[in-house]
Amino acid sequence: MEEKGRRKFIKQSALLGTGFYLASSLPFSKSFANGIVQYKLPELGYAYNALEPWIDAETMELHHSKHHQGYVNKLNQALQEKKVSDLSLEQMFARMNEFPLSIRNNGGGHYNHSIYWELLKPGKAEEPNDILDEAILQQFGSVEKLKEQFIEAAMGRFGSGWAWMVERNGKFFIGSTPNQDNPMMSVSEFKGRPILAVDVWEHAYYLKYQNRRRDYLEQFWSLINWDMALKNFIATRK
Ligand code: MN
Repeated sequence: MEEKGRRKFIKQSALLGTGFYLASSLPFSKSFANGIVQYKLPELGYAYNALEPWIDAETMELHHSKHHQGYVNKLNQALQEKKVSDLSLEQMFARMNEFPLSIRNNGGGHYNHSIYWELLKPGKAEEPNDILDEAILQQFGSVEKLKEQFIEAAMGRFGSGWAWMVERNGKFFIGSTPNQDNPMMSVSEFKGRPILAVDVWEHAYYLKYQNRRRDYLEQFWSLINWDMALKNFIATRK
C-alpha cells in the first residue's frame, strides 16, 4: 500500500508500462508468477479528491483501493487456480463460458473499472470532439439525445451493473450489463466494443448520492473524458 501523500500525485504515465492494448485502447499492466499472468491495479491519472465535489474523495479511494484492488486480487488468484498462462482478458471474455465464474466476475471487475477511471476527467465539462462528435451527431442528432438514452439505460439497470455505449458493425448501441459483465463477453446479451462506461453499483455513488442514482449519472456525464472516448472509438475502427 502506498503512503497517502504520494497517492495524490500519481501520474498517468505510470499506466503505460508493460501492457498490451485491448479494444478499449487501454493498457493493462501485468507480470507473471509461476508462469501465470497476474494483473496490477492501475494508478489513477488524478488525485482521489480531483473530482470533488461531484465524486467525493472517500468514494474514489474506497472504490479504487478497496473494490478495484479486490477484483484484481481475486482475478489473480483465479488465474493461478485455473493456470491461465497466456490469454488476455479479451480472449477470455470471447470464450467466457469456458472459464469459471470467478474469472468472469473479477476479470470483468478489473476490465470495467480500468475503463471507467480513464473515462473520468477533472475540470470543466467537455463535449465530444473530432470524428466521435461527427458520428454521434449523425446517429443521435445531438449529444443531448445520446445523454438521455445513456442515462435511461443506466437508470434501467436493476441492482448492480454497468451502462455502456458500444460500437458494433459501425453503429453505436446503448445498453447495460448486470454485475461485472461487459459487452466483450460471449455470455452477454448486450455486445459491442466499449466507448463509454459507467459504474452503477451503489459503491460508486452511495456515500454522496445515496439512492439518487440519476444525480450521480448527471454528474458523471459532466466528468467524461471525451479524448479517451475518442481513443476508444478509434480503436474500434482498426
Ligand atoms: Mn465499482
